[in-house]
Amino acid sequence: MQDPLIKQMVHMVATTRPDELGCDECLEQLDHFAETVLAGKNAAEAMPLVQDHLDRCGDCREEFEALLAALRATTYSPRPDSYPT
Ligand SMILES: [Zn+2]
Repeated sequence: MQDPLIKQMVHMVATTRPDELGCDECLEQLDHFAETVLAGKNAAEAMPLVQDHLDRCGDCREEFEALLAALRATTYSPRPDSYPT
């Protein structure tokens, strides 16, 4: 016999994509994501879950834009000298 509440929770888990990021997880990785963008790498490909969340969450996207602007302001070299190959 199953508790209806548990059934509901199981349903929620089943309908939520397991690889979907929450805002907290997104923000945790946001600085790394922004650094990847500034390094000229494909951040969306390297961190698709963060990109996915930014596409859906306006709050985190705003946070990302602000972070990117701040990093750009402090990064004077557009291309790092020690580019890993
Ligand atoms: Zn978010």
